[in-house]
Amino acid sequence: MPNSKQPVIVGGGPVGLLTALYLAIRLDADQKPLYPRILVLEKRGDLREENNKESYSKQEYNVVISYRGLQSISGIPGLLEVMMDGGISYSRMQNCIRSDELGKGLVVHTQGDKISIGRNKVVQILLDFIQQNFSSQIAISFGKAVVDIDFKQQKICALPASRARHPFESTQEAEVIDFSALIGTDGSRSIVGEKLRRSVTEISYFCQPHPEPYISARISHEDLKSANIDFHPATMYTVQPRIKGISLISLPNHDSLGVNLVFEHRKNPEDCLFSNLSDSFKLRDFFTNSFPTLGQVLYNSFAMKFGVTDLNTLQQLNIPKNYFLTTKYSQFHHPTSPALILGDAAHTMPPTVGQGINCGFGDVYYLSAVLDQAHDDWSKAPALFNEKRQPEAEAVQKLSQFVLSERGRFVFGLRLGFEVGRSILARRLPSGWIQLPVTQLLSHTNVPYSQVLRARQSQFATGCVVLLSAISSVGYMVFKATKRFWV
Ligand SMILES: Cc1cc2nc3c(=O)[nH]c(=O)nc-3n(C[C@H](O)[C@H](O)[C@H](O)COP(=O)(O)OP(=O)(O)OC[C@H]3O[C@@H](n4cnc5c(N)ncnc54)[C@H](O)[C@@H]3O)c2cc1C
Repeated sequence: MPNSKQPVIVGGGPVGLLTALYLAIRLDADQKPLYPRILVLEKRGDLREENNKESYSKQEYNVVISYRGLQSISGIPGLLEVMMDGGISYSRMQNCIRSDELGKGLVVHTQGDKISIGRNKVVQILLDFIQQNFSSQIAISFGKAVVDIDFKQQKICALPASRARHPFESTQEAEVIDFSALIGTDGSRSIVGEKLRRSVTEISYFCQPHPEPYISARISHEDLKSANIDFHPATMYTVQPRIKGISLISLPNHDSLGVNLVFEHRKNPEDCLFSNLSDSFKLRDFFTNSFPTLGQVLYNSFAMKFGVTDLNTLQQLNIPKNYFLTTKYSQFHHPTSPALILGDAAHTMPPTVGQGINCGFGDVYYLSAVLDQAHDDWSKAPALFNEKRQPEAEAVQKLSQFVLSERGRFVFGLRLGFEVGRSILARRLPSGWIQLPVTQLLSHTNVPYSQVLRARQSQFATGCVVLLSAISSVGYMVFKATKRFWV
């Protein structure tokens, strides 16, 4: 690997690879690439290689890329079309409040493009796109984990990923790489973020798991069909099952439904339904009782994921509890070194409002605008980036902090009713009279997150006023109708 100074991107996930593409298309006044060589370091293997497929497929989940993310993707000529083909474009959301059956529930048709696509599929599309169009400019080094950073000398130290846990024993295998700019896109447990906050003591950091545990799996279309479950392949489903304290959210893919099951948080973790799933029979009872129609197929798919070998035999289980994380940095850049963090490395958030990848792609889009403004001067660009994006990330993180399971069917139904009502009024009345509901401001527009946060506060207040007026009107009518019994 030649070691001339170059921009180095740590982490070849969706945000890192899109960043590499955005740098690659930047041209100087002579229309030559401003960054003739860009290096991406990814600690895992190439997910397209056969021997890596199994380990990646265990961690596959679907994400929704909506307006903000698609806008960023469209900045790379030719990429949007391939991304749209790789995912499922959907405008149907079915909210099954009274029944667990996928086919029976309130269908809401949403406007605006959005796709549901596997996180790993996004990476695969970006890798193929880079290989086909920018292979001479973007070098991706797989299996290389960054373990140390010297911001002052502008150097990073990388090790083969298998040795990264023992960095001090592996000095011979260590590779020192100079960087002209360092972009940390290495996800929620970012090493670039960690080194940044250790090097700049004024940076405050916060990391907290979301209170609700979750488990996820995929159910193939074949399994759904053979269980006679009526489903629409291009629909996002949410199911509020009969047993309170669980919420099912499912995103479509070309061949399967990605299912996230979120459990209610309890003060005493032992009370959480999740904690009782200690053997295969309890797991089966849990699914068949909670979801009378979907139960068996859900059980089959989760049981397979959790290593149940015989579906009809009692087997002890140790199901790992997953928690979505929130990580916050008070600053995304180094004050004196050309280094910054983007995507989940800078602002991990639970996917409750579906903005993780969208906000990360938005970072890339904004970084490119800042580089235009700073004429690619990396002594200025990181601070300019931070000024705008850090407060925006904080705003969307605030928006994503609600819990999904505790609301129960009544609150869920009420909120859905308000949202549908607001959405219909916003589209029927002259533009500007009624604002779109918050979920649509997030997914269909590019309104800054800080404004969406303010909109949520005012929409919540309006909702309360409408609800109180409705309750008092009904109370008044009941009073009038029964007046003679009172006086
Ligand atoms: C179940 C689930 C559902 C989600 N649903 C949605 C959704 O609907 N909509 C949405 O917008 N978002 C969603 N998200 C969030 C979304 O997946 C993330 O925001 C997105 O993947 C972040 O991309 P990233 O590239 O910043 O980080 P990552 O995807 O985490 O990629 C980071 C990369 O860096 C590599 N890396 C880490 N450390 C090192 C190191 N030391 N050296 C080199 N490489 C390193 C990792 O191997 C990885 O490939 C969801 C997340 C989960 C878990």
